[in-house]
Amino acid sequence: MRSVDIIIIGGGLSGSAVAYGLARKNAGKVLLFDEQLSAQRLSRGNFGLTWFMCKGGNNPAYAQWCRMATRAWPNFAAELEEETGYDLELEWNGGAIHAIGEEQFAAHAASIENLKKICAEVGMDYPVRMLNRAEFADLIPGMTIGEQVSGAMFTEDQGHVNPLKLLGAMRCAFQKRGGTYLCGESVTSVSPQKNGTFIIHTSMDQYCCDKVIIAAGHGSAKLLAPLGVKLNIYPQRGQLMVTERQKKVMTFPVLAVRQTKDGSFMVGLSTEDTAHDSRVTVEAMKNQATGALQLFPDLAKVNWTRAWGSVRVMTPDGAPIYSKLEEYPDITVMALHSAVSLAPLKLSAIAPWIMGEGEDKLISSFSNGRFNV
Ligand SMILES: Cc1cc2nc3c(=O)[nH]c(=O)nc-3n(C[C@H](O)[C@H](O)[C@H](O)COP(=O)(O)OP(=O)(O)OC[C@H]3O[C@@H](n4cnc5c(N)ncnc54)[C@H](O)[C@@H]3O)c2cc1C
Repeated sequence: MRSVDIIIIGGGLSGSAVAYGLARKNAGKVLLFDEQLSAQRLSRGNFGLTWFMCKGGNNPAYAQWCRMATRAWPNFAAELEEETGYDLELEWNGGAIHAIGEEQFAAHAASIENLKKICAEVGMDYPVRMLNRAEFADLIPGMTIGEQVSGAMFTEDQGHVNPLKLLGAMRCAFQKRGGTYLCGESVTSVSPQKNGTFIIHTSMDQYCCDKVIIAAGHGSAKLLAPLGVKLNIYPQRGQLMVTERQKKVMTFPVLAVRQTKDGSFMVGLSTEDTAHDSRVTVEAMKNQATGALQLFPDLAKVNWTRAWGSVRVMTPDGAPIYSKLEEYPDITVMALHSAVSLAPLKLSAIAPWIMGEGEDKLISSFSNGRFNV
């Protein structure tokens, strides 16, 4: 049986980011497993936003965590690109959430004030401002904005990437630094041993290790149940639609509409509680298209070419779970939405914490146990 230092189960955005973070820290022999089932496309089927705006209004620790992550994104991306030669297609020109009507405009303004205070409590900025309709329109001269749009909240300090390139680059950087990525191999169980090590059983082999990281998305609950741990997550479907390529006119994303580097518009962000069903539905596509046309009526002239659904890993409060198991502190669990936006913190905060090199004061707010009350 092969013995290594750390085994990471799940090579999606979370597992790959932490794998890269551990490899950067010379954490020893690290194996990353991903079973590569086509239905598990969450890390490949998302919107690619690197976003903090509006997150954590009811959860100060999450708001601060998101802000920290976004501040770290430009350097994180530059290092990853330099190390791997990948172009992440990062556009860092800002992001907006438009408002329909005056009531929503006022609600957006109130959200900014709330989150400014929350971030200021820990000495962090929250550089978001309201734009009136004319100011918002001036920022997107190539698109006509819909009549009902009253303005938008806007920040210069966030952006979007190609999530496929991000995933590929993190796996590549991990391997360049000596990590081993085993795709197509499914972990079937984690067995704690009396001497404090763990035996990992897979579809092909058995391995022994000192630390385990379970970052298997919806696959994590199944691995944790035999260890007596209930993971507090639930499935939430989101659907995305993509258009044919157009002249590039948007320089930053609006929450539900972004234009990729190659010119396609992506429209989306439906939220549906539909268990583990990742199919697309006409109803959700109709709703999404209606919302997009309300914002940019000219999109009515563009053909949709593709659509897909994927199933979010959601927690009851929307914030991530980063937990060391009480009984087995060398098993770390992570389960989260927004793994694109939060990727840099896997390097700066999560990998050092796993290695026992200090704990960011926000991490204890994200335990799995916070829901067991
Ligand atoms: C429509 C939509 C839009 C989104 N937009 C954004 C966005 O703009 N920005 C953002 O930050 N986030 C966004 N997200 C969320 C983001 O996609 C997720 O947070 C992210 O993909 C979660 O990554 P993960 O690695 O934790 O989980 P997953 O992507 O589910 O990865 C888990 C991996 O574990 C593997 N696995 C499972 N069980 C096993 C096992 N037993 N053995 C081996 N491997 C196993 C699976 O094959 C899978 O590859 C969006 C999500 C949706 C649905």
